[in-house]
Amino acid sequence: MPVSITCPKCGAKCSVPEELRGCFYRCPKCKDWLTVPTLTRNEFRALVMMKTKEEVNRIVGPPDSVGTSEDVRREHWNYCGKTINPATGKADKDELTIVVIDNGFVVDVHFAPKAAP
Ligand SMILES: [Zn+2]
Repeated sequence: MPVSITCPKCGAKCSVPEELRGCFYRCPKCKDWLTVPTLTRNEFRALVMMKTKEEVNRIVGPPDSVGTSEDVRREHWNYCGKTINPATGKADKDELTIVVIDNGFVVDVHFAPKAAP
């Protein structure tokens, strides 16, 4: 589902792909840079829960990284900066959004601090 945003500078309404949430986007009219609003954690969770991998890809875009677990049916799709941290009100840049996929379906979404490099 595309995100509708209104340019604060010129008032142009634009529709941008979901995967650009948290990114900068150039207004097609005045060429100013806008920030595409991020989702709250609850909104993100509600959007992806019980969805297939293909749907998740379409709804929130491809993951920034993919991890596996001991259980081979499970995959962890890691996203960064797609959600708002409720503690700070800012985009989650220091915490990963981890989407747990079991047998092709999303079964859980949780949030964890990024591992130190
Ligand atoms: Zn504009």
